[in-house]
Amino acid sequence: MDCVFCKIAAGEIPTDKIYEDEYIIAFNDLDPQAPIHFLVIPKKHITSLATLDESDSDLLAKIMLAIKKLANENNLEGYRVVTNIGEDGGQTVPHLHFHVLGGRAFHWPPG
Ligand code: 5GP
Ligand code: ZN
Repeated sequence: MDCVFCKIAAGEIPTDKIYEDEYIIAFNDLDPQAPIHFLVIPKKHITSLATLDESDSDLLAKIMLAIKKLANENNLEGYRVVTNIGEDGGQTVPHLHFHVLGGRAFHWPPG
């Protein structure tokens, strides 16, 4: 499959990896929008939150716990977790990913 994040997960594209286990990989964003900006993705191809199903619930919990662990390791007290879904959501890579942004204050509502 021609998916850039599947290729990163398979080690076919080099990346600034910060965490990996059997199910998940996390790496720094190529175009950081905050002093800390990394992405946490399932190794399995899932297009977005919109295509999740019940059988992915354990995987999702693992991703959330990995986010918590990585945020703690980066000494982030306040931070933002974002997943963009589809064109209107601003998704540019159609492989489920959670942005973790920290190291500055964020505003609400987002743009
Ligand atoms: P989206 O717009 O889909 O929510 O986020 C995609 C993110 O992936 C963007 O922040 C973009 O900078 C990042 N990105 C796209 N291609 C690559 C890549 O090859 N390597 C890394 N590290 N980040 C990427
Ligand atoms: Zn993929």
